[in-house]
Amino acid sequence: MTDYLDYDYLLIGHGIAGAVLARELRGRGHSVLVYDEPRPDAASRVAAGLMNPVAGKRFALTWRAHETLPTAVAYYQGLNEELGEDFFQPSPILKVFGSLPEQEQMLARAADDPWQGFVERIDPAPIARPGLLAPFGGAWLRGGGHLRVAALLAALARQGKAAGWLREETFSWEHVVADGTGVAYAPGQLRARHVVCCQGAAALACPHFGWLPLTPNQGAVLDVAVPGLSPAQVLNRGAYVVPSVVPGQFRVGATYRWPPFATEPGDADQRELAGRLAGLTALPFEVLSEQRGVRPAVRDRRPLLGRHPALPWLSLFGGFGSKGVSMAPRLATLLADHLASSGELWPDVNLARYYALYPALEGIKK
Ligand SMILES: Cc1cc2nc3c(=O)[nH]c(=O)nc-3n(C[C@H](O)[C@H](O)[C@H](O)COP(=O)(O)OP(=O)(O)OC[C@H]3O[C@@H](n4cnc5c(N)ncnc54)[C@H](O)[C@@H]3O)c2cc1C
Repeated sequence: MTDYLDYDYLLIGHGIAGAVLARELRGRGHSVLVYDEPRPDAASRVAAGLMNPVAGKRFALTWRAHETLPTAVAYYQGLNEELGEDFFQPSPILKVFGSLPEQEQMLARAADDPWQGFVERIDPAPIARPGLLAPFGGAWLRGGGHLRVAALLAALARQGKAAGWLREETFSWEHVVADGTGVAYAPGQLRARHVVCCQGAAALACPHFGWLPLTPNQGAVLDVAVPGLSPAQVLNRGAYVVPSVVPGQFRVGATYRWPPFATEPGDADQRELAGRLAGLTALPFEVLSEQRGVRPAVRDRRPLLGRHPALPWLSLFGGFGSKGVSMAPRLATLLADHLASSGELWPDVNLARYYALYPALEGIKK
């Protein structure tokens, strides 16, 4: 054991969750090693990176928007500066109204300000922007933006590989051996005081977290060329249309599919997304590619973080569903405080809310 490397934290997974947590822990002076198997179906590799304060058909304020979004915006702006590249783009989001009754409903609700400052203004008149179809107007959201998630993760991974804190390898839980002070992992010739599973939907395959009510769902996005469509905002109605760094290109998302998952790009997803895009622009467009990934959704639609009920060396950082980009920065701080024994987790994200589902300890490797 003498020539094993010692780490404070071993993280499994370098999607947006693992990447942000690794940075948080390293920033606090901990030694961290990350294992990441770059799975093509990892949600972070296909995400459109949208940070949307108001979402869904009910036009509701996103869960804990005030606690997560401003932190995320500041965090990604800091990363832009640090890395010298604009991965994050603050951007207005135009929620396009689909009908007059929808517009009237929103105007009526506006008096009570249920969006707490995230709606900048409501335009009841048709909105004139190049290529845009918005005859009933729309609501302009502020405080959000979009992140080029895959590009950011690739940049951070390059740093990690060069500095030696990231290994692009599959981690095999069956080789973990716990002792009184942490774990040893023989294939990597290392020991760690604590392990954090940041595997996204693949956390279900981790032998220690299969009891949690993760309910992965698959989503597809299209990369499209729409020459002439205004890139000055994100569009949102049924689908979102996020401008790309390539002029005239956009990412359109996203579909939701419950198991069984499709293994090949499919006509159904393309038809659905292309149909929604056609509702937002009268301009001709070309579908360039389709990508799909699996979201780490949870039964109660809240993230899952915190300590394993029986294994003191193990924690989870996941369950981010369709909102990992905006939630990861604030929740990484929360978890890091908690692991340092200086902070309580919010009850609605603490995986302890599901401890009652934890099976008998027999058969679980300690
Ligand atoms: C189509 C689509 C569009 C989306 N759009 C948005 C959006 O606009 N905004 C937003 O906020 N969210 C969006 N999401 C959701 C977002 O992608 C997720 O919330 C987020 O990426 C989850 O990040 P994660 O790091 O927890 O998991 P993942 O991204 O799945 O990362 C897990 C990582 O762990 C690695 N891993 C797994 N098992 C192992 C192992 N045994 N050994 C080593 N490594 C392993 C995987 O390869 C992967 O790299 C979208 C998701 C999809 C599918």
